[in-house]
Order: sequence, then C-alpha cells, then structure tokens
Amino acid sequence: MTRMRTMKEFSLIINGDSVATSDHFDVINPADKSVVARCPKATVEQLNEAIVAAKAAFPAWSALTYAERRAKLMQLADALEAKSNAFMTLLTQEQGKPTKGFADLGAGFELGGTLAWIRSTASMELMPETIQDNEIAHIAIHRKALGVVGSITPWNYPLLMGIWHMIPALITGNTVIIKPSEMTPLTTLYFGKIAKDILPKGVLNVVTGAAGEIGEAMSSHKDIDKIVFTGSTPTGKAIMKSAANSLKRLTLELGGNDAGIVLADADIEAVAGKIFATAFINNGQTCAALKRLYVHESVHDQLCEALTNIAGSVKTGNGLDVDTDFGPLQNEKQLDIVKALAQDAKERGANFLCGGKVINETGYFYPITLVNNIQDGARLVDEEQFGPILPIIKFKDVEEAIASANRLAVGLGGSVWSTDIKRAQDVASRLECGTVWINNHAMVQPDAPFGGVKDSGFGVAFGEAGLKEFTSIQTMQTFKS
Ligand code: NAD
Repeated sequence: MTRMRTMKEFSLIINGDSVATSDHFDVINPADKSVVARCPKATVEQLNEAIVAAKAAFPAWSALTYAERRAKLMQLADALEAKSNAFMTLLTQEQGKPTKGFADLGAGFELGGTLAWIRSTASMELMPETIQDNEIAHIAIHRKALGVVGSITPWNYPLLMGIWHMIPALITGNTVIIKPSEMTPLTTLYFGKIAKDILPKGVLNVVTGAAGEIGEAMSSHKDIDKIVFTGSTPTGKAIMKSAANSLKRLTLELGGNDAGIVLADADIEAVAGKIFATAFINNGQTCAALKRLYVHESVHDQLCEALTNIAGSVKTGNGLDVDTDFGPLQNEKQLDIVKALAQDAKERGANFLCGGKVINETGYFYPITLVNNIQDGARLVDEEQFGPILPIIKFKDVEEAIASANRLAVGLGGSVWSTDIKRAQDVASRLECGTVWINNHAMVQPDAPFGGVKDSGFGVAFGEAGLKEFTSIQTMQTFKS
C-alpha cells in the first residue's frame, strides 16, 4: 500500500518544480497487467512552459566551465546510486526486465550502465582545436552548446537511453527537455525528481504525455534547437519532417535488424553462449541485438543444438521473482508483432527448435524461441522482431551471407564469428552497418561511437564524436597584424 501511494505521486518536472497535471494515463506492469502508477499527462501549454524555462536557464548553464557542470552531474550520479534499489524495482515494474536476469543483463545492468555512463560522459571535455598558429594568424575551432535540446526516448531501456541523451547534452552546456515513452515514463520522472534538487532551475525538465502529441510538438517547436531521438524508423522519419521548418539539428538512433554471420571455422562451443546472450539481451528488445543468425552449413546443426540447450535451461517469468532470466515483452503491441512473425514462419514451414507458443497469459509473456529451416523473405527474417525469437538461416557460401546481411534497408550493427580474425575482419568491413563486432555483438561502451547507417538513422552517440553532436562549430580566426 505504501508503495502504491508513493507511485501515485509522479509529477512533471518544469523549471525545478514538481508540476501536477489535470489529466493522467495508466502505466501498466507487463508481467501482470496491473496499474503501476498514474502518469501525469502534460498539455502542450505545459511543454511550452518547460521550453521557456530551459531557454531561460541556458545562458548561465552554458557559461559554467566543464568542471562546474561535471561536479553537478557527478553529484547526480551519487544521488541516483543512493536510490539504486528503488530505481531497479520501478524499472522492473514498468519495463518488465528482471532485476538480475540472464547473464546479469537485467535491471541491475541498466542501472549500472546508467551510473557508468553518467560518470564517464561527464568526465569528457571538448577542447578547442588549433588549425593554424603562426606569425600570420591563430585559427581554432571552438565548440559551442546549441541551446535547448529535446530528448525523446523509447521503452526498452527507459533510464539508460535517457542518460545517453541527457548527459552529453548537459555536459556540453545545453539545457534539456526529456519526453520518455508513454509506456515507461516512471523511471525518467523519478530521475527528474532527484535532478531538480541538484541542477539549477530549468536545466533539466521532464514532460510526459500522450503518444505522439508531446513528441510532435517538440519536433516542430522553434525554440528547441535539437532533437535527439531513439526509437522506430517510422517515428524518426515523422520527426525529421516536423523538424524541417525550424532547421532543427537531429540525431536519430532508429531500428535495426542486425545480422550475425557464423563462419565455418567458428569455435561453436566458445561462441554459442555469447550468441544466445546477445540475441536475447533484454528479451530481444534491444536495438542492436543479434536479430538474424546466418550460419555456415558445416556448423549449423552443432550451433542449433548448443543454442537449444541453453534455451532449455532458462526461465521466463515475472521480473520481480529472483530466479527469472527473462521477463515479459514490454507491451501487448510488441507481443502481437512477435506472434505474427512466428505465425508467418510456421505457415512457411519453418522449424521451431523451441518455444513458439504463448505459455502464460497473465502478462505479455513469450518464451525464448529458436527457428531454423527459414529463409530470407520470411517476415521473421526481414522485419525487426524486437522480442525473444531468433531466425537461424543456413548458408553455403559466405558471399551469400554478406549479400543477405546487406539486403535490408536498415544498418545498425552486425557481427562475424570466426577463429580466423583477419578473415572475419575482411567480411566485417563489407557489412553495411554503423558498428560491427568480431566474435561478439551488441556491446557498447561510453567512449566508442555508436550509430546507424541507412534507415537506422544518422548521428552518433558516445565518445568525443557523441559530445560533438550537441555543439556547433565556431571557427575563430585571429590575425596578428
Ligand atoms: P517509437 O518510435 O514507437 O517511440 C519512441 C518515442 O517516440 C516514444 O517516446 C514515443 O512517444 C515517441 N513518439 C511517437 N510518435 C511520435 C511523433 N510523431 N513525434 C515525436 N515522437 C513520437 O519506438 P518504441 O516502440 O518506443 O521503440 C522501439 C523501437 O526503437 C525499435 O524499432 C528499436 O529498434 C528502436 N530502438 C533503437 C535504438 C538505437 O539506438 N538505434 C535503441 C532502442 C530502440
């Protein structure tokens, strides 16, 4: 009861204040379809108030040194860490992921990643770059904050994705308005509540609203200087359209359908566990999860058997139960997509090595499912499943596998699995994607740039390249006489 009462107290964060709304919507726990909390539903007028506050806070915040902004962000990381348990529980309730989970990739992983990313990103700094320094002139590139940044996040890693947007924007001197997904807004609102007591008024605002309405108003608003968006390709395209009138800067991290290619010389025993973990990380609801597995015919059966054995040892259930490896899908719509792709595969005569049937209808549960005897052209191969079902496609010649990997419109990540590193790197360099891994997949870290090509978007996150996305160049040419 105490928890339910606390849960009802979420409010918008505007100009350093908790702001109530007259309207609300329910946030559903995907494990049992209960209401976790009522979420404040902002009006466009309230969004406008947040934009006014962020704009007013910008001159003072951007005038601080990196060291001064860093000190505030480090304080924020400490305050968040002190509330770790509450964050993890809330994350499991709104998103579904287990606290610990398979290979320790659950809510604890998201919280740990959040803290690591805040601290690491806040430690970075963009220094002026000198182009020329001689008796004639000193020419240097300076990087200036853009102004007000609008962040729009998805529902798969609600807290971590928000951090990936907010921290590089804030450390470079921008002020922020974040709009989390209406499916998983609570951890971001909770984060905003902690941040309002640490950051100056208006520097970070959290505005939650109805699907599409607030995001669309942000994308078209003349006083938001940049939108950083993570989500689906169709929404990314809609944002780009509405941002055009104000020539807004954009970073679009969109959907993917990453291929993994297992060459004939791969050490199957050594890689099977990693392939499983990176295909099913966050129950498959990960932008750069391994989503199509192309396996050379000589090792196909051995790998299928190894993956099926691992699948037989894991448990799908309520994320609050300590022995749960995988939670439910986050929402009914995503469950329906997974079911439809499985049905199409069945109708095409694909072979289900395990799973494939909904087992528990108290929540949005779908079991870990492995499908072989399937080809390019099946919906499960060609469309992003974003769930716990993996198609395994046999190939004879590596040229076929490379052509298959590159044939789709998306290009986020890809991987090659082999004991011959040089050959693997040669194959990897031919894949059309923003990140390519050898003998791994889906690994990201705060100093390694990450972004997509083709329909997976543009712009990058992380590292110096990621910070630069939140700045504009000012070239200063100082002539000496
Ligand atoms: P989504 O596109 O449906 O929603 C993402 C966000 O956009 C939500 O906050 C939503 O409210 C908002 N939105 C909806 N309509 C809008 C509009 N017209 N204008 C502005 N904002 C709008 O995506 P999702 O279902 O939440 O997330 C799943 C998708 O995100 C998958 O395709 C996945 O691959 C992708 N994703 C990509 C990455 C990456 O880094 N590339 C990371 C995570 C997820």
